[in-house]
Amino acid sequence: MGCVHVIGAGLSGLSAAVSLACRGKRVLIHEASGHAGGRCRSYDDANLGCRIDNGNHLLLSGNTAALSFLETIGADGALTGPERAAFPFVDLDSGKRWTVAPGTGRIPWWIAVPSSRVPGTRLREYASILRLARATPGQTVADCIGGEGALFRLFWEPLTLAALNMSPHEGAASLLWAVVRETFLAGEAACRPLMARDCLNRAFIKPSVQFLTARGGQIRFHKRLGEITYKESRAETLRFADGETLVLTDKDTVIVAVPPASAALLIPNLRCPEGSRAIVNVHFRVEGLNGNTGIIGIVGGVCHWIFVRGDIVSVTISAADALAEFPSERIAHLTWSEVARILEHQNLPMAPYRVIKEKRATFAQSPANVRRRHGVETAWRNLFLAGDWTDTGLPATIEGSIRSGRTAADAVQHCTSCT
Ligand SMILES: Cc1cc2nc3c(=O)[nH]c(=O)nc-3n(C[C@H](O)[C@H](O)[C@H](O)COP(=O)(O)OP(=O)(O)OC[C@H]3O[C@@H](n4cnc5c(N)ncnc54)[C@H](O)[C@@H]3O)c2cc1C
Repeated sequence: MGCVHVIGAGLSGLSAAVSLACRGKRVLIHEASGHAGGRCRSYDDANLGCRIDNGNHLLLSGNTAALSFLETIGADGALTGPERAAFPFVDLDSGKRWTVAPGTGRIPWWIAVPSSRVPGTRLREYASILRLARATPGQTVADCIGGEGALFRLFWEPLTLAALNMSPHEGAASLLWAVVRETFLAGEAACRPLMARDCLNRAFIKPSVQFLTARGGQIRFHKRLGEITYKESRAETLRFADGETLVLTDKDTVIVAVPPASAALLIPNLRCPEGSRAIVNVHFRVEGLNGNTGIIGIVGGVCHWIFVRGDIVSVTISAADALAEFPSERIAHLTWSEVARILEHQNLPMAPYRVIKEKRATFAQSPANVRRRHGVETAWRNLFLAGDWTDTGLPATIEGSIRSGRTAADAVQHCTSCT
């Protein structure tokens, strides 16, 4: 039996490896850094004296691949969220608060009830969803639904920033439609917000690694792949940055599950998305919170979302390329004033904080880049691709990563030249 070499231990690589291990394949993961998880990870923060995630990760109950992955690795129950779909919002300009609470059916009847709608919106504005459904590949969200009005500012804009990590004027309408179709239009049961109960590592990463190693899979850390050499229609060797060379046998296959810029260095003439967008997270450790868990969407401020988990209040700012250039202290002050206002703790002195700037959080999810997403197969018969940037039809998310890994595992399984 050949070995499947998976390059990268992010969620895409882990998903591919788990899926292959379930089919009895021999898997060896090579990871450049000293830990698994890639952009979805946790660490012990000395300043806050607790474990935090690199960034808040929100899932929805309609993320079927992510949920079934958790079940496979024995981590079902690792996510938590409200029993019913409800997204509380606050507008810092007007001070208004409201909750988006989708109804149970597939048809969003709730928008017919004025008190259930986003404040200041009229029923006919919601017809914009039909224009999103008919989006052409070249359109941005704003091209489809228009770029103004209360519904745009209070619903479409925050939703696009959260789902695409881009403004509606830049983000691809087709990707937002995929999210709306699989969650909001699938009824309340598909759009309940979910987040890691303890941390991302305990939910996704540690159980995947345990699952793999229990089935004979291996992960090698500090193993940056520097080059792949090719011969005729196959990848021939893997050359690592530390000087090691692995010669692939006829039965071996390779899944490259690294971000697009790294993949382009390994695979000649690779068509892939260009450019990325930042996400900034600020984690505050706030004494005296009552241990609640929840999220709040914010309009009209610097912060976009606040996640509360125990005594950690975490702020997410998407499409944050400009903000990421600010000094961390300034970012903490800007966001704390909003957090204190929203949580009604105005008199509290600023809590201890950690600012995490993920400058390449996702690829720039523009219509042009959607066209540059690559399928799972490459020009080489034993080389496959996975990653949130590959052509999953979804935005760059946990759900997309896990599906991409599963697709790559299917391709390896069906690869007749490497059984
Ligand atoms: C701050 C932040 C917030 C986010 N919020 C959400 C959210 O709310 N909901 C959601 O669903 N998604 C969210 N995401 C997106 C989600 O984290 C990613 O889509 C997902 O983690 C990508 O996984 P991946 O395996 O495709 O890539 P990565 O996680 O980037 O993994 C690639 C791995 O390959 C390794 N590597 C790179 N080059 C090499 C090489 N040459 N040799 C060996 N190894 C290599 C890297 O070290 C890395 O471990 C967020 C991301 C960030 C950064």
